[in-house]
Amino acid sequence: METGGSIFNAMLQEFDGAARLLGLDPGVWKILTHPKRQITVSLPVQMDNGEIEVFTGYRVQYNITLGPAKGGIRYHPGVTLDEVTALAAWMTWKCAVAHVPFGGGKGGIIVDPNRLSRRELEALTRRYIAEIVDAIGPEKDVPAPDVNTNDQIMAWIMDTYSMHVGHTATAVVTGKPIEMGGSLGRREATGRGVMIVTREAAKHLGLEIKEARVAVQGFGNVGSVSADLLSKQGARIVAVTDWKGGVYNDKGLDITKMLDYAKQHKSIDGFPGGETIDNPKLFALDVDVLVPAALENQITLENAPTIRAKIVAEGANGPTTPDAHKYLHERGVFVIPDILANAGGVTTSYFEWVQDRHGYFWEEDEVNKRLEAKMCEAFKDVLDTSIRYKTDLRTAAYLVAISRVATVTKMRGMYA
Ligand code: NAD
Repeated sequence: METGGSIFNAMLQEFDGAARLLGLDPGVWKILTHPKRQITVSLPVQMDNGEIEVFTGYRVQYNITLGPAKGGIRYHPGVTLDEVTALAAWMTWKCAVAHVPFGGGKGGIIVDPNRLSRRELEALTRRYIAEIVDAIGPEKDVPAPDVNTNDQIMAWIMDTYSMHVGHTATAVVTGKPIEMGGSLGRREATGRGVMIVTREAAKHLGLEIKEARVAVQGFGNVGSVSADLLSKQGARIVAVTDWKGGVYNDKGLDITKMLDYAKQHKSIDGFPGGETIDNPKLFALDVDVLVPAALENQITLENAPTIRAKIVAEGANGPTTPDAHKYLHERGVFVIPDILANAGGVTTSYFEWVQDRHGYFWEEDEVNKRLEAKMCEAFKDVLDTSIRYKTDLRTAAYLVAISRVATVTKMRGMYA
């Protein structure tokens, strides 16, 4: 079905399918398909050349039924209110699937951060937070990094918010540097979660993870850690691509060496461990597991027929279009949906928030042990639901999420 190019419509399409199966109450249906709050702000910044530029920023709190809104902030020239709203909705369902007490939020600024100096980037970030300061907070809305934002930007956010409220409030944001209240294990958490659900899926399908052949699209935070941890499980990573190039080696790539190479060269292009490969060839490889961990809309009806993987583990948000997903499911491909597969990040963000609020920090082993338990629980909940409702895992993940949010919506009742 067409989505008219709207990412929010694509989200609604997925939502409606699950809501129908669930027999969702029509009133709750209406509530859950509308964002609670959409904020648009204009952000004047004095640039290094003395001129003033005005940027546009958004923060959407899609739903806060289960707890404070939670979700990243994206700096990108292509940011739109439609995209931010869809991402905030996905965060709502992801937090509910992961069973963490958060609602869903997301933010974004229309900007190409690569064109800003460090001072301009800091000024833009601080102005954005100053404009939304009344709407965020440890009990209200807790931002985090997303595309083109990092731990330094989170540090500026924490500082700006703290200056406004008059005390240091570490729990206002997650993905912070360790030295100022970040959590050990947070950087690796999304990739670790991808590894855990892939391992559990392989177990369910009777596939040996030790012998599994894996292809990974994207070698950033999510792709590189997924590749590294899957290879540490004994899987053979045969191909990796990034924005600049790709490498293929049927015998398996040395991911430790690739990590070093990527750090030095800012890309894996030219890595001397195999032959060159591009995305279309990577998708069509004879592998057991495909991990799209780069961008949205990568697996489409055009390339889905070429996919031979038995498991697709969606490290990225929205990498598969609804039509392509339907096609893959009907062909028997086991697609682990984004709101489950990449929920390790927000789960460990929850751990970071808990540690900040306690003022007591856990060892890395403790973080990883708790993440393992949460991801296995989420995988089992979704798998059991897919079996009970005889449906695909994406619809099942929505069923789990919607029923959790709907139950609490009804318990809380209408305030009016
Ligand atoms: P990142 O910027 O660290 O990495 C993105 C990677 O994708 C880079 O290696 C880049 O070179 C590559 N890439 C870009 N265009 C490509 C192309 N056309 N072909 C192949 N590779 C390409 O970003 P990230 O944090 O790893 O996020 C990746 C995806 O995972 C995004 O969809 C993001 O929303 C999602 N995600 C991230 C987290 C997290 O904790 N970082 C959590 C949940 C979901």
